[in-house]
Amino acid sequence: MLKKFARYPLTFGPTPIEKLDRLGKHLGGKVEIYAKREDCNSGLAFGGNKLRKLEYIIPDAIASDADTLVTIGGVQSNHTRMVAAVAAKIGMKCLLVQESWVPHEDAVYDRVGNILLSRILGAEVRLVDEGFDIGIRHSWEKALYEVKARGGRPYAIPAGASVHPNGGLGYVGFAEEVRAQEEQLGFGFDYMVVCTVTGSTHAGMLVGFAKDGRQRNVIGIDASAIPAKTKAQVLSIARHTATLVELGSELAEDDVVLLEDYAHPRYGIPSEETKEAIRLCARLEGMITDPVYEGKSMQGMIDLVQKGFFPEGSRILYAHLGGAPALNGYGYTFRNG
Ligand SMILES: *Cc1c(COP(=O)(O)O)cnc(C)c1O
Repeated sequence: MLKKFARYPLTFGPTPIEKLDRLGKHLGGKVEIYAKREDCNSGLAFGGNKLRKLEYIIPDAIASDADTLVTIGGVQSNHTRMVAAVAAKIGMKCLLVQESWVPHEDAVYDRVGNILLSRILGAEVRLVDEGFDIGIRHSWEKALYEVKARGGRPYAIPAGASVHPNGGLGYVGFAEEVRAQEEQLGFGFDYMVVCTVTGSTHAGMLVGFAKDGRQRNVIGIDASAIPAKTKAQVLSIARHTATLVELGSELAEDDVVLLEDYAHPRYGIPSEETKEAIRLCARLEGMITDPVYEGKSMQGMIDLVQKGFFPEGSRILYAHLGGAPALNGYGYTFRNG
């Protein structure tokens, strides 16, 4: 589905699929749980889902003759860290606008984890006092203007690399990769579980899995806590991406399955259940999930398995999208383990 698009390789290649046997047994043994390890997809500053998207965005940045990548996220944004790493790798400058999306209890929140890595990677990090939003922001339009004013050539990458015209392509590729892996494994997955915030990961998967009619088997777990806006953004990115790849069929509103029960109390803040899910997955599988994203999708998957949402015998593929560096900003939360 992606042959006609330029791709700049930033990842190691297809990501491994691992069976989470002990977690599956712990949850009753009625379903099989697997994880696709997007968190291990690259040697670029710990990797993660944004790199898959950026592979289809960077060719345009290079073609545009830019010299500075400009993007935006929260203080502990994984996305901004990954853009900083990519800028270093391709020899561009990087300006990051980091907004206060999360009220935090750790004194070192703006010194550790993702933001620490971005600074080491040489990005210009600008802390801005603005609340959470998944859309396009004035603070980064201002940053773009400033880069131009000082003689630079900026290339704008929106939050999460999502509403960029090519933002959905990377996760179309994920679906194609899963199909090839299913062939090797000799079985298919009945459900895919994915964490959703800025939307292009989920949207790309919808388009990719729509090719074999599985779009409603992509179960999005909202971590934005503004699910109506997130759902609309997923649908709009998916429809745009479907046109780009010439999917040939229309995506309906009901194709976006976005479960809203796990994002509480708000974006970036883990509930007690999120913390329990993070501990359970770590202690049964040695697999690290974070309080902002994957901890919430892990919590959602665990709850759905326990509720019997997935029919007995289902094979579930949990997309592990990365995010572990943010844990460094939650030392107080996990001070007792
Ligand atoms: C960005 C991110 C997500 C959410 O992906 P979107 O495409 O923004 O919906 C999930 N998990 C991690 C670790 C992320 O960095």
